Amino acid sequence: ILLFGNDGARNPLDVLKRIYGYSAFRGQQQAVVEHVVAGGDAVVLFPTGAGKSLCFQIPALCRKGVGIVVSPLIALMRDQVEALKQVGIRAAALNSSLSRDEAIAVRRALSADALDLLYVTPERAVTDGFAEMIGDMDIALFAIDEAHCVSQWGHDFRPEYRGLDCLASRFPGVPRIALTATADPHTRGDIIERLALRSARVFSSSFDRPNIAYEIVERDQPRQQLLRFLSRFKDSSGIVYCLSRAKVEDTAEWLNGQGIRALPYHAGMDRTLRDRHQDAFLKEENLCLVATVAFGMGIDKPDVRYVAHLDLPGSAEAYYQETGRAGRDGLPSEVWMAYGMADVIQRRRMIDEGGAPDEIKRIERSKLNSLLAICETAGCRRQAILAHFGEAHPGRCGHCDTCLKPVETWDGTEAAIKALAGVYRTGERFGTGHVIDVLIGTVNEKTERFGHVDIPVFGAGKDLPARTWQSVFRQLLAMGLITVDHAAFGALKLEPEARAVFKRERQVLFRKDRPSSGKATRGQKS
Ligand code: ADP
Ligand code: ZN
Repeated sequence: ILLFGNDGARNPLDVLKRIYGYSAFRGQQQAVVEHVVAGGDAVVLFPTGAGKSLCFQIPALCRKGVGIVVSPLIALMRDQVEALKQVGIRAAALNSSLSRDEAIAVRRALSADALDLLYVTPERAVTDGFAEMIGDMDIALFAIDEAHCVSQWGHDFRPEYRGLDCLASRFPGVPRIALTATADPHTRGDIIERLALRSARVFSSSFDRPNIAYEIVERDQPRQQLLRFLSRFKDSSGIVYCLSRAKVEDTAEWLNGQGIRALPYHAGMDRTLRDRHQDAFLKEENLCLVATVAFGMGIDKPDVRYVAHLDLPGSAEAYYQETGRAGRDGLPSEVWMAYGMADVIQRRRMIDEGGAPDEIKRIERSKLNSLLAICETAGCRRQAILAHFGEAHPGRCGHCDTCLKPVETWDGTEAAIKALAGVYRTGERFGTGHVIDVLIGTVNEKTERFGHVDIPVFGAGKDLPARTWQSVFRQLLAMGLITVDHAAFGALKLEPEARAVFKRERQVLFRKDRPSSGKATRGQKS
């Protein structure tokens, strides 16, 4: 690299100061850098914002030869390469978006030893052509970014990552460093196994994001609830995630009508418009980006002050990644989700009706359940989130919703038995609405037509309001005591685990849902 004229000093701290302009390494950065500079393999598990990029960039600059960086997204590569060039590092990307001439120029620079870092996609990295191209060059290291893509447990499985273990056999002696912000033990294990990194040193730091405040509310009037959440933020930007493109469009339009500057972003939009909205979000101070999960990976906006979810993500991991886009600058940030029974039903249906093999469906169900456990916990959310990553936390973090306003629980064993009996006695053929009508004793066309006004469970639950029954069914669903049969138009069915409840061998504790914040604070009409 040119900056290192004659003195040839390629000491990591010098590089950090002179090229990046930072005065000190953060956390375990230095340990990782020294390990890799010395030729060791590494697995780096740090949360978003911890500074993983320097962990491979600096060793690449300190070692002889070019550093090869495997990165899953072309857009992400482009941004990183631009940023590196800004500080005088000779970086380039080789991918399908280049013109023929551009690709030739990159190859020339490479063979002239004029590159410090070369970014490639995993598809390319595993080809024979690529191996030949770099075969007789000095290679400083291989960095495998977003390494969780190798795992089906991760939230972004990319089959091409599976082939990357060939780098170990083709280039013995070249250090490899795999990096990710995905932390659950399954994914970690997969990274180490699949990428042939069993003898690598593992560097991991706490996944706690202490500056993020977590809140998950029961959804009743999502738009009003969202508006109240957004009203906490003046002159700051954030992201609102929705599941569908249509909902993204509608929500953005509605927010604009409410005087909140909002722009939509989803993969179905015209490319230029989408890029324009992304740029606006990166540059402007006071903008709400309403997006599907197509938005976010690799977006480095440090001052995202809030992330809201109007729909439940598919796993604890996805929730952690998406909320993790808030507060990369370390300043206080808030994340909020409105969640309800319909989400559970929808997510389960997406899994059941998706084309995945049974083995994958099983994994997906279990990942969804780990998120439901976080949603339904009566304890500290942070503790529940970190527990999912195998990390102990004493709880009572003091700034999640359940710490700020402890949730009451109630012994719902009797209610659960009634609810399960309601499902059973109506023949496991009806959805929540009808079963609740039966439980609270509503005489209507449907309860009469099916003769449900005459069965013993009719009215057996009139001691509790319909709203509480809604909450009971949602929690029974989250606990896996009942399921929804999509093939039977959403009929509730009992799961084998329900038996223990019937037999009073299992106690059921429910969260007491609180009224949504707006009603509590402003007593507005609902
Ligand atoms: P990650 O990839 O772990 O999410 P990044 O590598 O994008 O994190 O770094 C996050 C931010 O922190 C970047 O803006 C980066 O420049 C900055 N950063 C990284 N290391 C340091 C350091 N030692 N001192 C100051 N800032 C740093
Ligand atoms: Zn807490």
